[in-house]
Amino acid sequence: MKDYFARYRSDDNWLIKEDGWDKKLQSSRESQFALGNGFIGSRGILEEVPFDSRPGTYIAGLYDKTGAQVTEIVNLPNPINLKIIAGGERLGAGTMDILEHERILDMRHGLLMRHTLYRNSHKKRFNYQSLRFVSMRNKHIIAMQTYITPLDEPATLTVENLLDLSVTNVGFLTEGNKKHFRIEDVSQFNTGEYLAVRTLEKNILVAYGKSMIIEKGSSRRFAKHVTTQIKLKKNQTACITTIFSIFTTDDKNSKKIKPVVKGFLKKSANIGFEKMLEEHIASWDRLWQISEINIKGAPQDEKSLRFNLYHLLICGREGNGESSIGAKTLSGEGYRGHIFWDAEIFILPFFLYTRPKVAKNMLLYRYNRLDAARRIAESRGYKGAMFPWESACTGEEATPAWAKNFDGSLIQIRTHEMEHHITADVAYAVYQYYVATQDIRFMLRYGFEIIFETARFWASKVEYNKKSKRYEIDHVIGPDEFHEDVDNNAYTNSMAYFNLLVGYGMHQKMKRRYPTEYKRLSKKIGLKKGETVKWKMIVPRIALNVKRNGLIEQFDGYFRKKKVELKDLKRHPIPAIPKNIKLKDIGKTQLVKQADVVMLLYLLSDNFDLKTKKKNFYYYLKKTVHKSSLSAAVHAALAVEIGDVRMAYRYFDIAANMDLTLLYGNTNDGMHAASLGVTWQAVIHGFAGIKIFNETLSINPRLPDDWKELIFCLKWQGQNLKIAINHTKLRIQFYSRRKDALKIKIFNTLKKIEANKAHAFIRERGE
Ligand code: BGC
Repeated sequence: MKDYFARYRSDDNWLIKEDGWDKKLQSSRESQFALGNGFIGSRGILEEVPFDSRPGTYIAGLYDKTGAQVTEIVNLPNPINLKIIAGGERLGAGTMDILEHERILDMRHGLLMRHTLYRNSHKKRFNYQSLRFVSMRNKHIIAMQTYITPLDEPATLTVENLLDLSVTNVGFLTEGNKKHFRIEDVSQFNTGEYLAVRTLEKNILVAYGKSMIIEKGSSRRFAKHVTTQIKLKKNQTACITTIFSIFTTDDKNSKKIKPVVKGFLKKSANIGFEKMLEEHIASWDRLWQISEINIKGAPQDEKSLRFNLYHLLICGREGNGESSIGAKTLSGEGYRGHIFWDAEIFILPFFLYTRPKVAKNMLLYRYNRLDAARRIAESRGYKGAMFPWESACTGEEATPAWAKNFDGSLIQIRTHEMEHHITADVAYAVYQYYVATQDIRFMLRYGFEIIFETARFWASKVEYNKKSKRYEIDHVIGPDEFHEDVDNNAYTNSMAYFNLLVGYGMHQKMKRRYPTEYKRLSKKIGLKKGETVKWKMIVPRIALNVKRNGLIEQFDGYFRKKKVELKDLKRHPIPAIPKNIKLKDIGKTQLVKQADVVMLLYLLSDNFDLKTKKKNFYYYLKKTVHKSSLSAAVHAALAVEIGDVRMAYRYFDIAANMDLTLLYGNTNDGMHAASLGVTWQAVIHGFAGIKIFNETLSINPRLPDDWKELIFCLKWQGQNLKIAINHTKLRIQFYSRRKDALKIKIFNTLKKIEANKAHAFIRERGE
């Protein structure tokens, strides 16, 4: 049988395959095979939508609260809904026998391909092949092509492609399933169909256009109606091409949208499926040119890493700050599409060093919600801006009050009351963005304001303890959410320290170098001189919990908690919670949910010496159960830094394959976005040893034994560096029209890297 899509398929190193049909894996595959372009996210369902599949079509930033505890990403009408009756029976998994089945996610080209050989109850076989994509070239387009061939006798196909309106959002707890839209317009035009729905709460219009083209031999026609018939001889093939366009608009512009959709669809039909597909592939090629990472000597690691990068690429969006990236990307409804610190701390670095415009957009998302953050701070009696723990469209707090715990029991959520480190995390990301891009325009318009307002928050949050003579931060939850309402969480305090320090430094800089803008901004936010002096005064007095023996106490009184030491970590790097500890009592023990002190050592690496890092890493490793997926890769990154490359590799391997091996058993709810991002970090900040020390780029790699060479690109201060590393040598170069040079610390020594010249450095003994 002809393979209709072979020419678009990349080589095996770029393919994730589903071999054979396994019903149980369906919902996880839907997340793994998700397609997207940063604007649209589309779960990888089968086109015939088997009854227990979970179609998901999401638009970044489109949330609705109707019927839900808190606002959530809207599951929109599902365009991938192809019903085919062949020889009187419904074609599909579950309705016919499946003799052969293969699905392929082509990560290089952003394509989902399928081949299934069906057999009906009369033992007649049908060959089915499909390909679909969410265009990376034009964010409004989804396109799909299907080839069907009856193999044993002539057949009449009845084909129906309805935009599926029966979709709902998953119900959490007592909510039940919810529909977040109502139908506004369903109409027909000569080359297709139009559907408009409106979200219930905010009245956002989402308009779909659809056209379906049927080809058989040399004949080609538009399907005039949603249902159409195709007569086929034995071994004759029909090709069904469907093109969808999706637009959204607010109320103001909703009248204009119908002609836009119609015109757009007509234009797309003229361009044709093939041309659109080629353009889409060309856009993916460009994306990979800057994001690809080659790992010579370890093709399996390279492929697993690619899977993570693919999923990051499909949710990155350059834009105007209207959306950021949720904890499950746009591949599922876990965490209701909310934005956490996952965005700034875990995901943003990948974009910052490959597509800084996406990183900028993520920060603009926060800037555009700074007023909401100011209101949150005010409502809690603080100054400045306090970002919500979970954020959606308005920037108000979106954390639900109740959720399910790991064991399925109900748990009251308190993160929004106490997990304050998010505010410093955002400031940290702004600072990273500035250092890596030197985008002073961004800082003058947005960045300084975020940093000052967040520093202000911390200055009002800290309390002076006369006895200890320290500034303390009480009643918080650190990254380790097993311990609620603790005082002086080392991570939170250190990030507050960082925020205040950078706040003061940036304030001095802005005042000196950009006095006009500084005046304007201080007037706007009412910044007084005394305030910034106070920031400077607080910094050295913040309680940091470093003990005399070099251990950092995770929070006041942590060392007095019930001692637990996890054993056999070599065999079980992600250990289970010991059986004798009940979930409700976990806060009374020293068990740690995820990297907390380790997170701090990783993010504020400059502030700690190697000895402290080592001591704390091994100490906390024996306490950490990695109940958050983002923990493993953080451990990998810090393990490289302390020279334990074997350990680092073990955690990298776990993180890179997490959603392929279904490690956490909830990939069906969507991909673990933070883990995707920090897996990239484990490679680049970890193995490749890329760090920023005192605003200077530093490279000090340590590769796993099996990795012969690591090759990647890195955007740094406007230049595109190409870097290749093996166990002894580092090669680096960049092209520039001007005679630029960069100062980069390589193997601990500052070097001058000139543009348009290949530089190579050999690691000296002891370096
Ligand atoms: C983790 C948080 C994370 C959230 C969303 C939680 O389980 O503890 O750190 O932000 O999941 O990924």
